[in-house]
Amino acid sequence: MPELPEVETVSQGLQKRALGRRISAIEVRHPGVIIGSPEQFAAELEGRAIVSIRRKGKALALELEAENAPPRYLLVRLGMTGQFTVSARETPLAPHTHVLLALGEREELRFRDVRRFGRLRSCTREEVEAAFDRLGPDAQQVTEEQFLSAMRSRRGAIKSWLMNQQLLAGLGNIYADESLFVAGIHPLAQPGRVSAAKARRLFRAVRKVLDHAVKLQGTSFRDYVDIEGRPGNYEPRLRVYQRTGEPCRRCGRPIRRIVIAGRSSHFCPGCQPRPRHVAKMRVASADRSA
Ligand SMILES: [Zn+2]
Repeated sequence: MPELPEVETVSQGLQKRALGRRISAIEVRHPGVIIGSPEQFAAELEGRAIVSIRRKGKALALELEAENAPPRYLLVRLGMTGQFTVSARETPLAPHTHVLLALGEREELRFRDVRRFGRLRSCTREEVEAAFDRLGPDAQQVTEEQFLSAMRSRRGAIKSWLMNQQLLAGLGNIYADESLFVAGIHPLAQPGRVSAAKARRLFRAVRKVLDHAVKLQGTSFRDYVDIEGRPGNYEPRLRVYQRTGEPCRRCGRPIRRIVIAGRSSHFCPGCQPRPRHVAKMRVASADRSA
C-alpha cells in the first residue's frame, strides 16, 4: 500500500509532468473510484489548469484553476494499489485503468487501480482543508515537540499509534516497522511508557527512514509505480518488513512476525527487546495467531 514516500514520489512526478498543464477532457471508465457523480466530477474539473500539488500524509490534492471561477481541487487517495501515470494517448490502456485525464492532444494522466480502494473526488477549497484537517501532522513535517506530545499518556501498541492517521499522517505498515527497528523499540511498547530518550530516537528514526525512502522513490510491494511507471528502489534497504525468519542485518537474530490489531508486525527480538510493561503472555499469544 502506498505510504508517505510513495505518495511523495507520485507528487514529485506530477510536479514534473503535469503541473501547469490543462485537463482538456476527462473520461471515467469505472465510476466506483469517483466519490459523487462521475458526470459532475468531469464537468467540474474539465478545462482547468493544474496550478499546484499538495500532499499531507498519504493524501494528494491537485489545485485546478479556471478563469472567472473559484479554484477546485482533485483530491486523491491511492488506497491499496492506486497508480497515476502520464502516458502518450496512443499507448494501449493497461487493465484496471479507471480514469483518463487528457493533458492536451498528446498525453494523458491515467488512474489505474487493481483493488479499487483508491478514490478521486472533486472538492472546493473548504472541502480539501477539512479533509486535510482530519489528518494529524504530516510525518515528514511534524516537529519533535508535536511528536512527543502526541505520544504522551497514550496506551496500546506503539505500532498502531504510528499508523493512526489522525495522530500522525503518512506511515503504514512498512515504514512503521522500519522506524521502530531503527529506534530499537518493540512494536507492542506503549507510547506513553517509552523513555524520553527512546521517544526522541523514534522521532528521528521516522524522519530518517522517510527521507531515505523518498530519495529512493519508495518501496514497490503489490502494484506501486511512479508517474513514469517505474517501481521504487527502497525494497533492498528494508531491515525488518517482510523479512520473517531472515537474519537481522545488525545482530543476526532471526526477524520475527507478530500480529497487532490484525496487521503483521516485523521486528528483531535482539535489537527491539520486549519492555517490562509488555507482558510476556501477550507476545506469546500474538505469536501464535501470526
Ligand atoms: Zn537485531
